[in-house]
Amino acid sequence: MSILYYTIMAAPLWDSKLQRFVGMLTITDFINILHCYYKSPMVQMYGLESHKIETWRGDSLQNFSAKHQIPLLRPLFLSSLFDAIYSLLRYKIHRLPVIDPESGNVLHILTHKRILKFLHIFGKNLPKPAFVKRPVQELGIGTFRNIATVHQTSSLYEALSIFVERRVSALPVVDGQSKVVALYSRFDVINLAAQKTYNNLDMTMEEAIRRRTCCVEGVMKCYPDESLETVIDRIVKAEVHRLVLVDRLDVVKGIISLSDLLQALVLTPAGIDALLS
Ligand code: AMP
Repeated sequence: MSILYYTIMAAPLWDSKLQRFVGMLTITDFINILHCYYKSPMVQMYGLESHKIETWRGDSLQNFSAKHQIPLLRPLFLSSLFDAIYSLLRYKIHRLPVIDPESGNVLHILTHKRILKFLHIFGKNLPKPAFVKRPVQELGIGTFRNIATVHQTSSLYEALSIFVERRVSALPVVDGQSKVVALYSRFDVINLAAQKTYNNLDMTMEEAIRRRTCCVEGVMKCYPDESLETVIDRIVKAEVHRLVLVDRLDVVKGIISLSDLLQALVLTPAGIDALLS
């Protein structure tokens, strides 16, 4: 539970028998566990805090293993930044530990945010490609169809179900007119642990949003006619993972995440599509 109490994003998982790191434990695992064990507010999930990680991995978290064995980055000196970006996007993960080939220790955890910030800072001295002046929607950068959203009157359990089934990292929260009113990300689920409110997943999204206190990423928006350059500047300055693409009435039309930007700026020019599902 330390990952939750210390509100850190992820913890490398050390296997003392094998004497090596075997994967990452992230907030997604906590969501999978809650989703699997939750019955109703009347039924306490007593075993949750005392559960052993290896038990979780053994029973309800078969997906966990499949997903989390892969992303330990190959030894640092054999992997390029390009490989790291490919792995983050291909396996739909948000943290990638970099391993020291000598000691087997985790040296660093790479994220989309750090990589994009690096490209943004160092790219300033390079000539910009002409396409960054074009509107994002015209360029097709982002997701514009089948956007996973959650209604503000829906239950938190419904939101967790969408996280588990669609494997998206955040949900625009909408009102009766499909207008975006907030953003609920996988990481917001950490508030349930910090406040010990995970026994009531029947609460509405409105309530879950009101109760958030830690690490809240506000809803940042962009519009279809804005240029890619504007979108990159906004997302880097705001230090968020995604912008919600809306029309002038704030109706949700799409999502542009750091994955989409890294795909467009780094992988597409090399002829690789890592976001293909
Ligand atoms: P992410 O893991 O947030 O970087 O996003 C990975 C891919 O999923 C990107 O192509 C996003 O545009 C897309 N995506 C993110 N959130 C949603 C959502 N709520 N509904 C549909 N697609 C999404």
